[in-house]
Amino acid sequence: MQSPPALTVYNTLTRRKEPLRTLQPGEVRLYVCGPTVYSWVHIGNARTFTVFDVVVRYLRYRGYRVKYVRNYTDVDDKIIQAAQQSGESPAELADRFVRAFEEDAQALGLIHPDVSPRVTEVIPEIQALIQKLLDEGVAYAAGGDVYYQVSRWPAYARLSRRNLDELRAGERVAPGEHKREPLDFALWKGAKPGEPSWDAPWGPGRPGWHIECSAMSEKHLGRTFDIHGGGLDLIFPHHENEIAQSEAVHHVPLANVWMHAGFLELENAKMSKSLGNVVQLRHALAKVDPEALRLFFLSNHYRSNLAFSDEVLTGAEARLQYFYETLQRVAERLGNRTLPPGPVHGDPAAPVRAFEEAMDDDFNTAGGLAALAGLFGQLNEQLDRPPVSDKAVAARTLAALRDGALTLGGVLGILGSDPAAWLERRRDRLVQQRDLDRTRIEGLLAERAAARKAKDFQRSDALRADLDALGVEVRDGPTGTTWKVKG
Ligand SMILES: [Zn+2]
Repeated sequence: MQSPPALTVYNTLTRRKEPLRTLQPGEVRLYVCGPTVYSWVHIGNARTFTVFDVVVRYLRYRGYRVKYVRNYTDVDDKIIQAAQQSGESPAELADRFVRAFEEDAQALGLIHPDVSPRVTEVIPEIQALIQKLLDEGVAYAAGGDVYYQVSRWPAYARLSRRNLDELRAGERVAPGEHKREPLDFALWKGAKPGEPSWDAPWGPGRPGWHIECSAMSEKHLGRTFDIHGGGLDLIFPHHENEIAQSEAVHHVPLANVWMHAGFLELENAKMSKSLGNVVQLRHALAKVDPEALRLFFLSNHYRSNLAFSDEVLTGAEARLQYFYETLQRVAERLGNRTLPPGPVHGDPAAPVRAFEEAMDDDFNTAGGLAALAGLFGQLNEQLDRPPVSDKAVAARTLAALRDGALTLGGVLGILGSDPAAWLERRRDRLVQQRDLDRTRIEGLLAERAAARKAKDFQRSDALRADLDALGVEVRDGPTGTTWKVKG
């Protein structure tokens, strides 16, 4: 078996790009912190999950076996609060938002993780881990709670590189907490009336937030695994605390590589009338094509912040439309024929190699998209070429380029739709967004078809001009007349 190629990944732990060295040859074990299911998923989190979706797809494309675990936090203060407001039990509310997340994730084309554990499924594992932390002397029970004593773990803040004295100065023990020191954090929260709780040797209660990921990653990926991922905002304290918990018990690194995705900047975004105040993924998906949303999420390097604006989303939709129009032209040109192998024009595999080179460099999707754009440039050049003597060479070149586009699209989770169907959906959406009169458009198109049939080209041209004035572009192709809303 061929060994997977060299791929470099930026490791937050070392603040450097490093060649990916996996624990088992050809296998990547990946844990990503998933959503807290108290509401619909925020669009910023959707970007993070799309980033890791593409990481998994690319690793698999590169020949790695990937075990991908992404959890659901289904016990949490926010869930309890939201349930009090909605009148559901916390479990009912969490169930409802797990389902909502799964619907949205599917709409966005996120692949299913291999395992999606929930906190409520791993209470025994969490309790066993807390007991080990107590046995190690790094945790203590107090007032029905159990806390991690940060001062007992000398490597604390190695990931975030925070200054412990400054952190201590900024922390206060909140009323009702039984911490010894301000930086200590809860592993177990003593039961309160009306809150979900489980029996435990140190008293009934529920897990703190951080312990779940230590328990779930160990259960499904082992004590040390290859990559741990999440949003930048999780570096401190969540990931720091995961390391402190797991490593104090196991005395081996929790994860070899820590990957963090940048923020989606909404604060300064100009929200237009068409998009409104899009904060939830669900709102965005109601207005923007899911593949266009992915294209937007991937348009910047995953570690950089990405500014959300109406213009960039509109740009992403227009770009996707160009991709699908090109693929549609290729489909019309090639039809269903099968092509015997033989020579091609140029080097149709070059853009695929450029894509791989970019993605091997810390999953540089912006570079990957530039390579894809180059590929579509070549496709259009080939489509616009005057007919050559050897039509088979031209057809094979088109087919090879198209296959490359679909392969790269698969890695990015785009271009998976039938071009004609996608273009029709896009057209319908634009008709609706621009409030165009569909009956009128269809009437003019029918009139124009009749004029063309009667060879009344003056009339047909006049009707084309009428449609143009309405914002509709007509194209007479080899398989009939099609129309689109002008960009
Ligand atoms: Zn986590």
